[in-house]
Amino acid sequence: MGASDLPTSPSLSTTVSHWIAGKPVAGSGARLQDVFNPATGEVSRQVRMASIDDVAAAVAAAQAAFPQWAETPPIRRARVLLKFLELLNRHRDTLAALITSEHGKVFSDAQGEVTRGIEVVEFACGIPQLLKGGYTDQVSTGIDNWTLRQPLGVVAGITPFNFPCMVPCWMFPVALACGNSFVLKPSERDPSASLFLAELLQQAGLPDGVFNVVQGDKVAVDALLEHPDVKALSFVGSTPIAQYLYERGAHFGKRVQALGGAKNHMVVMPDADLDQAVDALVGAAYGSAGERCMAISVAVLVGDVADQIVPRLAERARQLKIKNGMQPDAEMGPVITRQALDRICGYIEDGVKSGAQLVVDGRGLQVPGHEQGFWVGGTLFDHVSPEMRIYREEIFGPVLSCVRVEDFAAAVDLVNAHEFGNGVACYTRDGHVAREFARRIQVGMVGINVPIPVPMAWHGFGGWKKSLFGDMHAYGEEGVRFYTRQKSVMQRWPESTAKGAEFVMPTAK
Ligand code: NAD
Repeated sequence: MGASDLPTSPSLSTTVSHWIAGKPVAGSGARLQDVFNPATGEVSRQVRMASIDDVAAAVAAAQAAFPQWAETPPIRRARVLLKFLELLNRHRDTLAALITSEHGKVFSDAQGEVTRGIEVVEFACGIPQLLKGGYTDQVSTGIDNWTLRQPLGVVAGITPFNFPCMVPCWMFPVALACGNSFVLKPSERDPSASLFLAELLQQAGLPDGVFNVVQGDKVAVDALLEHPDVKALSFVGSTPIAQYLYERGAHFGKRVQALGGAKNHMVVMPDADLDQAVDALVGAAYGSAGERCMAISVAVLVGDVADQIVPRLAERARQLKIKNGMQPDAEMGPVITRQALDRICGYIEDGVKSGAQLVVDGRGLQVPGHEQGFWVGGTLFDHVSPEMRIYREEIFGPVLSCVRVEDFAAAVDLVNAHEFGNGVACYTRDGHVAREFARRIQVGMVGINVPIPVPMAWHGFGGWKKSLFGDMHAYGEEGVRFYTRQKSVMQRWPESTAKGAEFVMPTAK
């Protein structure tokens, strides 16, 4: 089974539409935006950009579908997700190919992204267990007290280009399993996966209107923020927009979780297995062309490690197989847009000007047969220092900066002083160092000899500092809390023994 199962699939059409009340909708917005194949640089389709009215239509559909979905017993909601899981597994490769065609990441990496999304769906199938309330018998004579968690209503998700399947899957399976209806606003740069997911949800038996998609940009996001029927917003993207959403969401009295950008460090201690560390750095810095919020962009090389591994990193960066992501041996694909390419090259120029040593320069890369693609090769800087822009700012491309530090304490101080705190890794063979690192580091997700520690579906994902605005991490139990609110019920079934009004604070009797 594959794309042929979906012969008239809206997710495979040349104009990408919205998905409202169970069908593709052109909407009233007149704007269209080009969607590129980053490997060829060609426009492969166009996406419709939602107007305020289109967002209102999607929210209205979600609002209309909410009461019945919320009333559906959790186990029956879970069964729809179970069916969706089966369809996702069946269409995994079609979805992965769709992702590669619009994002550019290599096909095997796109398959990995789909698998990480599937894991959240698997988790969501068991959510009824987490919706169980707490119960206390006899909090006072004849009175019981219990708590239950109820869905919020219409909730929205706004997602980035770099994981067009996985990041939406951090949100909607959990929100739906908890009884909410959902409006997804995916990235306008790779919008088709969202429609594919919508179709599979419908095939799985999800009632129309429970899951909707609006394509678009700031116009759609602002309309979701301002709409009184949207009760909560989950956002994943860059830090300035995450902060904007968090602040505007607070203004409109909404619940918001907004995951932002990153600058992830990997500390390599002198006692580390250096073969392992080199493999980890190459994969985590250059995988997906560095366009991962958990990519390693800074290597913190302790003691004499730098002299030992920088030449090895350079050799590996030069040997990367950079190709169209659909070629089976490709290790790295293009970056998302020409603007992203220009931005990354600008950072490389800035690094040179600020005095860092450019060991491998990825600029000007040509890939035969793909001359118009958005290519930049693996780039390596050594002798980077904390005041440089290439150290401070998120580049979001295949650029690895090496910072040399004297000892473990200096490495920890360096990481902790950075404004981002998404992911971090430490390579060492010393259990005490590993333990101290995990405890002292001011970062939300920590890897010990694991370069990209993206937590498993039931552990929840989230950074610290400017990498997350809000209290709750995505998915896992925190996701369930985010998409539900607690209600406490006290109940008495008295015999007819009215004693008159009580004017003092009730206490246990
Ligand atoms: P982005 O912030 O440009 O866009 C994210 C979403 O916000 C998109 O849907 C986009 O349409 C919308 N948007 C863009 N500009 C807006 C504006 N002015 N007002 C309202 N909405 C707006 O991010 P991106 O380039 O798509 O993705 C890359 C960024 O996402 C990187 O910074 C990366 O670190 C971050 N990211 C973070 C995580 C995480 O879990 N912390 C995960 C993936 C990506």
